[in-house]
Amino acid sequence: QIKTEIIGVGTELLLGQIANTNAQWISERMAENGFSVFHHAVVGDNLQRVVAQFEQSAERSDVIIVTGGLGPTEDDMTREAFQKISNLEMVEHGPSMDKIEAFFKKRNSVMTENNRRQARMFKGAKVVENQVGMAPGMMVSHQNSMWVFLPGVPREMKAMITNTVLPYLKQHTGEHTVIKSTMLRFIGIGESRLEDELKDIIHGQSNPTVAPLAQNEGVAIRVTAKASSEAEAFELIESTKQQILSKTGGHFYGSDEQSLAEKVFGLLKNRGLFIAAAESLTGGMFMERLVALEGASKVCSGGIVCYDTKVKENVLRVSPETITQYGTISEQCAGEMAENSCSVLGADIGISFTGVAGPDAQEGHSPGTVFIGIHAIGKETVIKKCVFQGDRNTIRERSVIKGFELLMN
Ligand code: ATP
Ligand code: MG
Repeated sequence: QIKTEIIGVGTELLLGQIANTNAQWISERMAENGFSVFHHAVVGDNLQRVVAQFEQSAERSDVIIVTGGLGPTEDDMTREAFQKISNLEMVEHGPSMDKIEAFFKKRNSVMTENNRRQARMFKGAKVVENQVGMAPGMMVSHQNSMWVFLPGVPREMKAMITNTVLPYLKQHTGEHTVIKSTMLRFIGIGESRLEDELKDIIHGQSNPTVAPLAQNEGVAIRVTAKASSEAEAFELIESTKQQILSKTGGHFYGSDEQSLAEKVFGLLKNRGLFIAAAESLTGGMFMERLVALEGASKVCSGGIVCYDTKVKENVLRVSPETITQYGTISEQCAGEMAENSCSVLGADIGISFTGVAGPDAQEGHSPGTVFIGIHAIGKETVIKKCVFQGDRNTIRERSVIKGFELLMN
């Protein structure tokens, strides 16, 4: 198995001024192509430390991809550091130098001498042409490792990986494994219970691997398969997916990027039902999720943002008695809101949200107390009292997610 490592060179990464998106992006591409990435490293623009990092990487990795620090200025250390550990001679690469000179000429500016550095290649290196920028990269085989040096600029680095580095690595390393992942998404079940129900599958097999992850909308299970072809990987994933769903299928709502809103959208559409919403603390957030989906006009009647009590009374026709007797944050008010949203907006299903987003308590209820009502015409109204943790927006967000979860049943 080939061990890959990705090194980011640049003090700005260590200072947190930029995120190491290069490593993340390269890792994804490597995984898709069957290479295992074992380490990410980041090192500042300091010669000694870059040298030390290269020494460590040379010990442990077969393919080492370095981004950044190839530029023309003194603080770009990558070349110098590699020369220190490899003792390889550097030569000027004619075609690259021509390109750099042409680049300056085209812009009518004078090339400073330090730009010559960018055309300097290690002897025996394969030049990685930069089709979207000026400075080239290179690939050098040294001792038992293959070193790949690329500019830090993400756009340039990506083109070079895709066009040159990956095809080369695949051809020269005989690594033909395909790795595929899928996410199975669940709601209404906690991460630990899901893990418990699936523990035989999780611990009983190594291909595909199965791992639970907490998400914003519920919990996801990542299923990752390694195979020699796409079709084989797909089959492995499918059979594990069926095993998982046979145990926990009731909580499943979608795969990969599918959202809860899409799931509910599909259910409503299949049944030919229109939905309306009466939203107090969520302020339209629920309806927004549905309307964001293509074809929303086939399932959405509309919504009323009834934040103020007067709107609950005057527009939504919640009875004043309900409000004086129970308050707006109550089962009774949530019920009437859901029912009346159906009649006022002419829908088949009405959903309501009323509660305390915080930070202050209201009507004697602490922040996070939320009532969600669901009324389907001809059926009894269902009301759920929830107590959510978190700040104002988290509480509003959780309310919406809970609303979708309740609509799944
Ligand atoms: P150049 O030849 O353009 O000077 P370079 O090889 O010296 O490139 P850097 O100077 O280190 O590369 O970085 C160039 C740009 O790329 C910077 O704007 C930086 O924000 C971005 N960059 C560098 N490393 C990373 C990384 N690991 N992830 C995301 N962006 C990065
Ligand atoms: Mg730099």
